[in-house]
Amino acid sequence: MAATIQFFLPPTGGKSLLGRSGGVGASMTDWDAVVVGAGAAGLMTAIHAAERGRRVLLLEKGRKPGVKILMSGGTRCNITHDCDNRGIIEAFGPNGKFLHSALAAFGVRDAIAFFEGEGVATKVEDTGKIFPVSDRALDVLNALLRRLERSGATLATSEPVREIVARPEGGFHLTTAVREVTTPHVVVTTGGRSYPAAARRATATPSPPSSATRSYRPGPRWCH
Ligand SMILES: Cc1cc2nc3c(=O)[nH]c(=O)nc-3n(C[C@H](O)[C@H](O)[C@H](O)COP(=O)(O)OP(=O)(O)OC[C@H]3O[C@@H](n4cnc5c(N)ncnc54)[C@H](O)[C@@H]3O)c2cc1C
Repeated sequence: MAATIQFFLPPTGGKSLLGRSGGVGASMTDWDAVVVGAGAAGLMTAIHAAERGRRVLLLEKGRKPGVKILMSGGTRCNITHDCDNRGIIEAFGPNGKFLHSALAAFGVRDAIAFFEGEGVATKVEDTGKIFPVSDRALDVLNALLRRLERSGATLATSEPVREIVARPEGGFHLTTAVREVTTPHVVVTTGGRSYPAAARRATATPSPPSSATRSYRPGPRWCH
């Protein structure tokens, strides 16, 4: 029996604002990977996968990507902290161990270099927090969107993913508000329900699996 993720979503149709390729009815071979949710995590995932030569489709439920980035750091966006990777892990507390591999792949200095490389000058404040010199979270988001565009990934907004099914023969089948997509790799970056203002504008949380499906727990098996 296939494992399924269903999403709680309003029954409104989505509008696809596709980039260079794909479209309603696009076939499974069009995308090497589909990333669900264009927040900070989804944008970075899509950028890095596309820069490695993957054909990436990034699906966003809301009309705009990166909404939560705009409200982060009191609209200034605290990009990272002036410390080494270990400092981040220690500051996280007892559960920080899970951050080791992520920070080894893309650490504090990489994050600063990434944004500086996109023209976002950064500053360290007395608290150790690192912000854009402009104090504008919008500059951080725009840097991500510029890089996304250069990477060749395709962003489709107003296109909520309603269901993801793991196919017995391999890969995944996704149903969005406007099309069906089959792809070998899916990364779910739909964030959490952490903040009402963000949730009102753009969010969705995977529903519990129906009784007809295998149980779903967010984890690496969805991030192939
Ligand atoms: C007020 C506030 C201030 C913050 N300040 C900072 C800060 O200064 N520095 C910092 O590092 N962090 C800060 N954070 C935390 C940071 O904003 C979040 O950790 C980060 O933005 C989460 O990114 P994400 O990509 O995981 O999730 P999200 O930003 O939530 O993105 C998930 C995306 O998935 C989309 N989505 C959901 N369901 C579906 C679906 N079914 N189909 C398609 N798309 C879907 C949503 O619309 C959304 O765009 C702050 C958070 C808040 C709320």
